[in-house]
Amino acid sequence: MKTLDCQGARRRIHLRLDGELSDEDALLLDEHLRNCERCAEVARQLWDIDAALRAGLAACCPPEGLYDAARGRVARARATRRMWATWVPAAVALAAAALVLLVVMPMLRRPEPAAPAVVVAGGDAVHVFEPNQRVAHPGQTGACLEEQTVAWGLGEEPIVLEFASGARLDLGEEAVVRIGRGSIDLFKGWLRVDLTNARGPFTVSTPWGEFAGEGAVFSVQSSADEGAARLSVIAGEVTVDARGATRTLPSGSAITLKPDPRRVMQM
Ligand SMILES: [Zn+2]
Repeated sequence: MKTLDCQGARRRIHLRLDGELSDEDALLLDEHLRNCERCAEVARQLWDIDAALRAGLAACCPPEGLYDAARGRVARARATRRMWATWVPAAVALAAAALVLLVVMPMLRRPEPAAPAVVVAGGDAVHVFEPNQRVAHPGQTGACLEEQTVAWGLGEEPIVLEFASGARLDLGEEAVVRIGRGSIDLFKGWLRVDLTNARGPFTVSTPWGEFAGEGAVFSVQSSADEGAARLSVIAGEVTVDARGATRTLPSGSAITLKPDPRRVMQM
């Protein structure tokens, strides 16, 4: 009889949560979980989060596809360009073409996202609960994440989210986050925030405190096991709001926060 390694077991834990695990694989997984305490603990944690999500969320409204919206904009812009070429003299058409190159093309290449965040890499490694949805579905690169979407890193592939403000986030495996506008809730796991090209501030909320930066690069590891969140400031400065006090940390510094009893973050 074949046996599973830990990687195979983790994959099947997620398949089981999605209701996609075959009977044969279920037997293999249960056997592995009986013999591997680490995987058993991962399974328990994910099952708890899954149960909390299912209990706390209701009716669904799926987001519209980013690519459909972008294609519509491209088609409209092309029609506009044809109309100009027909009706204006050559010199003006040239000027219009220059305008298109300088103004319209950059807008097409970087359409204003229909949602606060878009998965720009690692779509296969993320699972998504739409706002108020009870069932997760596999993510996709290019997918829009609406406000209140819960995203869950499930694979080893690097996951990158880009926010409408230009903030870029790397999510670690097993990270569980909820999307906000210019903010994100980190329930568990690791993420790295790069605000180098972002307009305006960005905030990461954890059960232990809040981390806000503008133009900064920082990472946050939130560990339910250790009951702590750890911030590392990689560039710029980050304001920490915890236990009712605010302080600003410079580049190169780090801090570990203990639980803040006044902060309650519900899924
Ligand atoms: Zn294992």
